[in-house]
Amino acid sequence: MVKRSISIRGARTNNLRDLDAEIPRNRLVVFAGLSGSGKSSLVFDTIAAEAGYQLNDTFPPFTRNRLPKWTRPDVEHIDGLSPVVVIGQRRIGGNARSTVGTITDTWTYLRLLFSRLGEPHVGESNRFSFNDPAGMCPTCSGLGEVVSPAVDRFLDLDKSLRQGAIRLPGFGEGGYWYAQYADIGTFSPDTPLRDWSRDERNALLHGGEAAARLGRRPPRDYEGVVERFERIYLHTSDNMSERKQETIRRFTRSEVCPDCGGDRLNEQSRSVTVLGRTIGEMSRMEIAELAGLVRGVDAPQVAPVVAALVSRLDAMDAIGLGYLALARATTTLSGGESQRVKIVKHLGSSLTEMIYVFDEPTVGLHPTDVESVTRLLGRLRDSGNSVLVVEHDPAVMAVADQIIEIGPGAGADGGRLVFQGTFEELRQAGTHTGRALSRGRPRGKAPRTAGRTIRIAGATRNNLRNVTVDVPVGVMTALTGVAGSGKSSLAAELVEQHDVTVIDQRPVGTNRRSTPVTYTGIAPAVRRLFARHNGVPAALFSANSEGACPGCDGLGIVYTDLAFMDGQEAVCEVCRGRRFVPEVLAHTVDGLSIADVDALSVDQAVRRLPDEAVVKALRHLSEVGLGYLRLGQSLTTLSGGECQRLKIARELRDSEQPAVYLLDEPTTGLHPGDIDTLLHVLDTLTGQGHTVVVIEHDLDVVRHADWLVDLGPGAGRHGGTVLYEGPVSDYGQDAGTPTARALAARAR
Ligand code: ADP
Ligand code: ADP
Ligand code: ZN
Ligand code: ZN
Repeated sequence: MVKRSISIRGARTNNLRDLDAEIPRNRLVVFAGLSGSGKSSLVFDTIAAEAGYQLNDTFPPFTRNRLPKWTRPDVEHIDGLSPVVVIGQRRIGGNARSTVGTITDTWTYLRLLFSRLGEPHVGESNRFSFNDPAGMCPTCSGLGEVVSPAVDRFLDLDKSLRQGAIRLPGFGEGGYWYAQYADIGTFSPDTPLRDWSRDERNALLHGGEAAARLGRRPPRDYEGVVERFERIYLHTSDNMSERKQETIRRFTRSEVCPDCGGDRLNEQSRSVTVLGRTIGEMSRMEIAELAGLVRGVDAPQVAPVVAALVSRLDAMDAIGLGYLALARATTTLSGGESQRVKIVKHLGSSLTEMIYVFDEPTVGLHPTDVESVTRLLGRLRDSGNSVLVVEHDPAVMAVADQIIEIGPGAGADGGRLVFQGTFEELRQAGTHTGRALSRGRPRGKAPRTAGRTIRIAGATRNNLRNVTVDVPVGVMTALTGVAGSGKSSLAAELVEQHDVTVIDQRPVGTNRRSTPVTYTGIAPAVRRLFARHNGVPAALFSANSEGACPGCDGLGIVYTDLAFMDGQEAVCEVCRGRRFVPEVLAHTVDGLSIADVDALSVDQAVRRLPDEAVVKALRHLSEVGLGYLRLGQSLTTLSGGECQRLKIARELRDSEQPAVYLLDEPTTGLHPGDIDTLLHVLDTLTGQGHTVVVIEHDLDVVRHADWLVDLGPGAGRHGGTVLYEGPVSDYGQDAGTPTARALAARAR
């Protein structure tokens, strides 16, 4: 028997403070609170992790090894769980064989349709599967594109082999392949490649002929870098780790397959038609249009197939994805689009009693689109599931059965349940979220005017219809429009036509060793501070000194490079992550050892480390609302929104020349209260003379902008034109566009 609620007692994951909660099942429950308050720690790292762990446990080991690994959360007791589906913003995996069609199962139905009704008559539906040898194009194996090594990116000629001249992972000193080049006596490991002969460089890359011409011949089984790269990265199975895919993205080029022109299918399958169109043509149509076409199929023997196909296409249209095409590779979808595609996939399933967990499903959505998402969340609940949503958008809170707020603050000041109840009750509550909701909207400010402008001229990328706009310099411009109207495309043109710094949400830390300390570069100043206070040399506190732990060279963790698998990192057993020998750890400042500094939050460090350089560098992190991060916290644990704010902090510190900054939805992950902080930061940037362009749906941010460029009217080929260009305050309701209406409603 499934219980009526999920009971949690004593949750201590990350910053949670022995949190107890009773979460009703079969309801739509929104989790609110400041960024960093602990929402994800509760919903993802505790509830979803435990549900995943329990589910894993019910499978035999063979199956278990093929499922995602869940770590059991730190919680005293938890029950009332059922299988969980996590629908995060993480983009859908990098598998090149995955398209909007395959991921939503619509492609399966389209294939069935072609196998039953195709002209000339064809046999089985796997003839239309590009993942099946019967259907795939032989030239590109069904990928639609051919990939070749970008050899010009392989080498850094200014470096020697020992310094890492071969940029591919695993080929540097200490890497798995290093000895095969540096230690065979053929090449000098210490000479920069620029000083090698052309034959030597060719031999390194290609072996073969060039190697034969060298005085010092390589061993008989020598394999050039390019051959080896192709063997271990390209001519290999499909199931690749992210690290491997990343390497492939960096070191290869791809072009449309010369044979199938991107349709992925073999010649015979490409020529079969239904209603006078090939499957390739249908896969490139917009989904909304395709739905109309397929609805017109009038053949009783395929009625169930048509019904299943149409219902899925309609669901995608209803959720605002009608402008996509089934052929679109999922790797090119934005985070918000990925998430909505995943929702459609689950709406099609008839499972009940599931727990669905969402991470800000409104990201990337215009207020008009948000409504369709809230309807879908309601549908999932009504079919008998529990829907848990981490969300800041008041429009989603308003339709929730219950709202749970975690707080009161962020980081160590958060981690408690501070409110549970309805939206109306929350508006009366004195919590951060309650106050933000009842306080009313921040007023739009008096717009600043700009003298100069920069022009984006004749943009035709994707759906843009020869768009020319002028962006005012030194002020803030908002780029608006419904999802798919062309905002990102216009932004990409801005980047291409001008020298623009993109402040995106991509991860900043690539390994566990990147922390706020390494990112801000305060380590030398901290070392000097410890030296001053203890009358010892600063070098003692450096990872290159004798004071560093011999087990990990002062890194605190041990890393094993496994060349073609994901590298392994583990906490050093000698120092247990404290990085230094005990004698060094005995030196303190204000009672803190050098290792204790890692445990301080940015805000605490500003108060406790008496050093001007340190305080100055860290203050920028506080200014962008990241004062709760711990100094030693790995940057790989940061959310997209946090990464973006970290990048803003760096620009606040470093940028001296007036620059143009582009931000894509900077409010992602931000609590309404945090948005004030963000606006303040953006004002600081424009105050320094910089130009700020934001793609944004949050109406408070839009109202705060000086200038507005609104694209539309619809998505895909129904969009791509400029609806308005001018001061935000002059965009009245009489304009009749979705953005103008939403702005007018918010101003009331
Ligand atoms: P929210 O979802 O409310 O924004 P989180 O649950 O992500 O907040 O974070 C709560 C606190 O826990 C923050 O201080 C955050 O920096 C910290 N934190 C999050 N993930 C990890 C992790 N994997 N390891 C250590 N600390 C973490
Ligand atoms: P927005 O940023 O307003 O959501 P986009 O600029 O991302 O809109 O998309 C505008 C149109 O261009 C949409 O129809 C979208 O499907 C299409 N599009 C965007 N990126 C690509 C791509 N890489 N390949 C094909 N079409 C694309
Ligand atoms: Zn092909
Ligand atoms: Zn160690």
